Amino acid sequence: MSATVQKDKKYVLHGWGYSDIVITEAKGAIFKDQNGKEYLDFLAQTAGVLGAGHAHPKVVKAVKDALDHGLTHTLTMFQNVPRADLGEKLASIAPGPLKNNCMTYFACGGSEANETAIKSAMKITKKKEVISVFWAYHGATLAESSLLGQSWHREGMIRYPGFSQMPNAYCYRCYFGQKYPGCDLECARYLEHHIKHATANDVAALIMEPITGNGGHIGPPIGSDYHKIIRETCDKYGILSITDEVQTGMGRTGKIWGADYYNWKVDIMSTGKALGGGLPVSGCSIRSDLLPEEMKTGQWHIFTMGGGPVLAAAGSAMLDVLMEEKLWEKAAETGAYLTKRLKEMEPRHPMIGDIRGPGLFVGVELVKNRKTKEMATQEAIDVFSHCLGKGLFFGLSAKAGIGNVCKFKPPLNTTKDQVDKAMTIFDEALKEVEHKSLEHGKATGGGF
Ligand code: PMP
Repeated sequence: MSATVQKDKKYVLHGWGYSDIVITEAKGAIFKDQNGKEYLDFLAQTAGVLGAGHAHPKVVKAVKDALDHGLTHTLTMFQNVPRADLGEKLASIAPGPLKNNCMTYFACGGSEANETAIKSAMKITKKKEVISVFWAYHGATLAESSLLGQSWHREGMIRYPGFSQMPNAYCYRCYFGQKYPGCDLECARYLEHHIKHATANDVAALIMEPITGNGGHIGPPIGSDYHKIIRETCDKYGILSITDEVQTGMGRTGKIWGADYYNWKVDIMSTGKALGGGLPVSGCSIRSDLLPEEMKTGQWHIFTMGGGPVLAAAGSAMLDVLMEEKLWEKAAETGAYLTKRLKEMEPRHPMIGDIRGPGLFVGVELVKNRKTKEMATQEAIDVFSHCLGKGLFFGLSAKAGIGNVCKFKPPLNTTKDQVDKAMTIFDEALKEVEHKSLEHGKATGGGF
């Protein structure tokens, strides 16, 4: 065991899984461990944080320049040049009604951005309840634990009063036993029942990821009227609409924002992860015309480090990279290629139950039996372990989500050659695990 591993084991809490891989170097879509072994990073570390790859030169340069100016930290009350630039750039590409009409509170993590979004919605509407959906993930704070779509997040903790969840749009396992498009989007219409029967009709906001990330890449049918229906209900009850773009934003899905797929009329957007190009930058962007004066200039909220000059410089540079390199177009193209490769594998692998995009936001749901759709959770862990051993790292919903979804979210500038390499390893892993499952009678067939 290396000295680092020993120290880490004794002194460092990981909180979210454990691996004794020590990452020592990284570039683009590749990282290396302490033994010089290379891995294809098909998760861009934490669910797409490195949207432009590890150590994009423009982000690195912007950070160095900011440090050379001696600006490591400024109090949020003061202004700094990169933060103003970042605010303007973000507003210029924001979705729907936010475009050139939003002000952003900058913070460090997605959890902070969502806390800000919820607090803002409560302040603006003077209401106290918040609705989210099954399988949602919005952050790890105590309040946010009550927004998450899985009860285990709250085990042993207090349930925040007034926060509730309704079923999400999950076509592969529809809660209403329906099939799109013949379903009249019952899942969206359900919101009104939820408000009437499961709340005190004091709802400040509905917060949703366009497509759940941690939850297992589940979202309404692309281009459907889902968010039109939801918005009409929100308007009827005076509820603000929050899109959590922490994972789906910054080009990940093949459009700049996931909300763009649904023509979603959002009031508030939270961003994070890829926004900082690897540094901790997040934002809560709020429709300017909703903001009372005291929220624009008064004292109502603070996260000490948010929007600091070094971080803001990284975010501003990352937005330049997004636009100059048209990363969302790359995501659409390379994502379509990755999905095609998976579809080619599908007939050979009965464990593949569902493949869902869009863009480089690809989830593969593994099942023991295609008919019963019994989840192949242990098998997904086995596939993941096999791939990691062969130098391919990707995401697994083992604990965060539905447990049987292999998630591919590499840097958006990943090459087709790298996709080919990754898919060859994944193909072999599926073959190996399917074979073992059969041998041990774990899988029940359905085309084996
Ligand atoms: N929202 C979404 C959709 C996320 O995926 C995450 C992180 N997985 C968060 C919010 C919280 O972000 P952070 O961990 O940076 O606080």
